Amino acid sequence: MFMSKHVTAPALAVDVRELLRSPGAHRHVVVRAPLDDLATPVASVPPDRPVTVDAEIESVVEGLLVSGTVRATAVVGCVRCLRDLDHELEVEVRELFALEPGDDEDEGYAVLPDDRLPLDTMARDALVLAFPAFPLCRPDCAGLCPVCGADRNAMDCGHGGTEDIDPRWAGLADLRTTLPEGFGEPQRGAPINKEDDDARPQA
Ligand SMILES: [Zn+2]
Ligand SMILES: [Zn+2]
Repeated sequence: MFMSKHVTAPALAVDVRELLRSPGAHRHVVVRAPLDDLATPVASVPPDRPVTVDAEIESVVEGLLVSGTVRATAVVGCVRCLRDLDHELEVEVRELFALEPGDDEDEGYAVLPDDRLPLDTMARDALVLAFPAFPLCRPDCAGLCPVCGADRNAMDCGHGGTEDIDPRWAGLADLRTTLPEGFGEPQRGAPINKEDDDARPQA
């Protein structure tokens, strides 16, 4: 499973000795601790921010069934303006933990030899998969100016307007800026706001 190779001392471990002795029993737990290694290129849960697992642990024939939520506040970077922002994550989980470690697939999803249930791998996998793929600080973030790099949410650097161009015509706009001054303008039929207006017949 994703990132399941992380098997150092668990930060989110629950003593389940009593549950293991009584099939059918269940117990509600809330555990909260920071986790390391919670980062991707687009988002992270910094090591100083706790992760909360709020779950019901049920003793079943196959092992222990954990169902509930994993919560944390991630830091994500807006893909348009690169600003860091907090992003609340609340992820539903439902995982079966084996009574004994099996093959590598189960690593991090099995009861520990000392009868503790390590919830770190489950929490880490759930949060990383819930990281937004295309974070935006707000839906209409204006982004950075491609010309000067200014944050267009904060200021008008004067290079505006390009966002109004239909992407299909962007190439045409580039072409236009490379044409000689005045090229093509008489064909547009609109009043031409230029110094030499008077020298031309009005359309
Ligand atoms: Zn933004
Ligand atoms: Zn600019």
